[in-house]
Amino acid sequence: MARYIDPVCRLCRREGLKLFLKGGRCYTKKCSFERRPTPPGQHGIRRRKVGDYGLQLREKQKVRRVYGVLEKQFRNYFIEATRHSGVTGEALLRSLELRLDNVAFRLGFAPSRAAARQMVAHGHFAVNGVPTNVPSYRLKVGDRIEVRESHKERTLFKDVKETLRSHQAPEWLSLDAGKLAGSVLALPRRDQMPPEFNEQLVVEYYSR
Ligand code: SF4
Repeated sequence: MARYIDPVCRLCRREGLKLFLKGGRCYTKKCSFERRPTPPGQHGIRRRKVGDYGLQLREKQKVRRVYGVLEKQFRNYFIEATRHSGVTGEALLRSLELRLDNVAFRLGFAPSRAAARQMVAHGHFAVNGVPTNVPSYRLKVGDRIEVRESHKERTLFKDVKETLRSHQAPEWLSLDAGKLAGSVLALPRRDQMPPEFNEQLVVEYYSR
């Protein structure tokens, strides 16, 4: 299971906005982007003209990095989205939102998608009662995700129970904080997915 293992704060500096890849730290003054919002590297401060291709590329990288997906897998998500009858960009975002690691993050079990991915990979969750450790596992409407019974008493989840008390899950998910469980009520609509993405630019990038 390949994943990005280099420093992540430089990704925010590269994209020119906070991607919230580090959980709690992103909301503190320690955030690298707050302290140094310039692109990384020796020539980061240099002003550059960005053409259409540059804009499309940056948008694609931004979406890909927020969800923590490598290029090959991201392209596969795009190819699959083109086969949908609806709007391609929206179908692409929907597939990403329905990943098990993203849903665990959205339900509030982890402070970031990266942390959620690790929790999934460490086998803490079951989907419809079946232990599942694949972060990219695609959930469907009606699926139930739950912290495995034998893992609920671990210190990690005692802390999670506390934070879940004040967590607001998106409308397309339902959260049962007491049972450390949640389920997919409906497919997310575009207005329930991150508004900061311009998925049309991603579509244009792959349609060149
Ligand atoms: Fe990005 Fe979070 Fe690092 Fe700030 S702390 S630069 S938001 S990953």
